[in-house]
Amino acid sequence: MTFVGMIFSRYTFTMSKVRVRMAPSPTGYLHIGTARTALFNWLFAKKNKGEFILRIEDTDLERSDKIYEQDIVEGFKWLGLDWKGEIFYQSKRLDIYEEYIEKLLKSGRAFRCYHSQEELEKERGQQMVDKEAPRHICKHKLSVSASEQNGRAGIIRLAVDENSERLLTFDDQIRGRIDWEEKLLGDFSIAKDPRTPLYNLAVVVDDIDMQISHVIRGEDHISNTPKQILIYEAIAQAGKTPLKIPKFAHLPLILGSDKSKLSKRNGTTSVSEYKKDYLPGALINFMGFLGYTYSKEILSKEEMADEFELEKIHKSGAIFDIKKLNWINSQYIHALSTDKFKKMIAAKDVPEKALPMITERLEKLTDVADFDYFWKSPDYAKELLRWKKSDLETSLKTLAEVKKIIQDFDFNKDKNEFRKALDEFSKRVGDPSSPSGQDRGLVYWPLRAALTGKEKSPDPVDIVYALGKEKALERVSKAIER
Ligand SMILES: [Zn+2]
Repeated sequence: MTFVGMIFSRYTFTMSKVRVRMAPSPTGYLHIGTARTALFNWLFAKKNKGEFILRIEDTDLERSDKIYEQDIVEGFKWLGLDWKGEIFYQSKRLDIYEEYIEKLLKSGRAFRCYHSQEELEKERGQQMVDKEAPRHICKHKLSVSASEQNGRAGIIRLAVDENSERLLTFDDQIRGRIDWEEKLLGDFSIAKDPRTPLYNLAVVVDDIDMQISHVIRGEDHISNTPKQILIYEAIAQAGKTPLKIPKFAHLPLILGSDKSKLSKRNGTTSVSEYKKDYLPGALINFMGFLGYTYSKEILSKEEMADEFELEKIHKSGAIFDIKKLNWINSQYIHALSTDKFKKMIAAKDVPEKALPMITERLEKLTDVADFDYFWKSPDYAKELLRWKKSDLETSLKTLAEVKKIIQDFDFNKDKNEFRKALDEFSKRVGDPSSPSGQDRGLVYWPLRAALTGKEKSPDPVDIVYALGKEKALERVSKAIER
């Protein structure tokens, strides 16, 4: 950037404050895509010392539910996506929409359409035959007689010139210039009545009223953008507010492992389902990469914000790779203090020495159950005690010798001394015909099984030290008695 450019961008930023919004509809649980969009808005606000606000778009009373709203708000809190000030609710803003809609009606930019559903379908059918874009070109915007009203209340539409040769253009901050033919939009509906705004009208009124500078949202909203631009213009022409259209940025879709749009079929989509297994910082870290590349793999949202630029967001779809999420999560779990980790897991009596052994191996928090032998006696089939290169009897005999070694060993000594003792013993029980003359498996396998009841675990020596002499002996005795 040149010196002049730097001055210029500083100047423009002081002129208009960055203000972005997250605007979920409470018609489902917090979706991972919504959370990713929220994160990118949050990062952009943070980077530009702007504000990030939360608006609940709950005008669809039939599909909105308090349970979903709570889930969304809790989800944002859990992820640490803090918003500025109070939460805005569209359902509490009906007076404001009414004021805008009345103004649009009065100015003639909006009008009532009395056509029936049947008539609209007929029009659409004809357009299909004529291979035209489906849209309603309403003659009621010019005049309407009482008979045409037919006692109906009439839906409210924006008057759009069906003969317009104008291209509606916006400069998408991620994708560049996007054009749309105005005449293809038709006289689209903006409200069922003055107190029941439809999606695009409510969004525009709110974005004006809340002084939103940048609209950052999923690419599925690209087709709404030209309609919204027309609403901005109509509101300005109606003399309600001066024309000020925010900048738009449309984020790439999130794709499942099969490269189709992420859905319940190809991945877990609701944030609440991740809570039991993942740390919020890990999920944030992971979501940050859904459409962006940072200078390092593990970073906080504050570090992401430092690097964040809209222009660097990827254009192509972002693949939701659960293996990557698991790896990132394992890094976050490993970095937890033992106190914090203990608070996060249900098991309270994990021996202190066992904690690092668990945290360095865990990808998901609920996998801690695989380590339950640290806090409760294992349950397993007797056959597990048999070393696969030997028989059960020999395996148990060897375990009885190991028991004696444990009994006689002073556990104040370093654990390498204990390992040495077991290794020495393994030389004596080994198969003399094998090259090393040693069978470590015959010593370690039954011991591991007796201690953990599992085929895989951390080093049995470490486990003996974590459990302590008494508990280790108790488990070995139990195994022999089986
Ligand atoms: Zn009509």
